[in-house]
Amino acid sequence: MKILILKALTVTSLVLISSITNLAFTQSRTSTISDTQIPYLAMGKGNSERSMIVTNPILCDEAPGPCRFFIRHVQAHRQSNHLILPPHAYPASTEAKADCFAAKNSNAQDVIDAYELLMQPDKASKYSIPGDLKVRAENIKTCAIKANNWIGNNIEG
Ligand SMILES: [Zn+2]
Repeated sequence: MKILILKALTVTSLVLISSITNLAFTQSRTSTISDTQIPYLAMGKGNSERSMIVTNPILCDEAPGPCRFFIRHVQAHRQSNHLILPPHAYPASTEAKADCFAAKNSNAQDVIDAYELLMQPDKASKYSIPGDLKVRAENIKTCAIKANNWIGNNIEG
């Protein structure tokens, strides 16, 4: 009898633990915090179980479209189960995948705004965007066109 009760208790606590874990995961998917000290528009922090999106509200006020685009980009890393790393730590191929997701799943105007920012490296340098920015811009455009989410000029650029 004692063993049965113990077993029942163990099962109950396991169920409880898993529901708490699920809750934490659900919350981590939506939590966004502000930090004016980060040199990026947006970045991920935390680990695969507890993560958050950190945005710089000063930089995001200056570049709201690219900010929303890069928030999507961070969400893409999480949805693809990429490790949560500082933006400069990702290989270019991983960045390209996250950019492609954001190009497909962002507001079309935000995609254009991000593209145009990346095409102006002097302007973009303020936001510490890593990698070859023109290569990233072209990839974003290609992905957006494929997803029917490109409202810019298809010929030029
Ligand atoms: Zn990234």
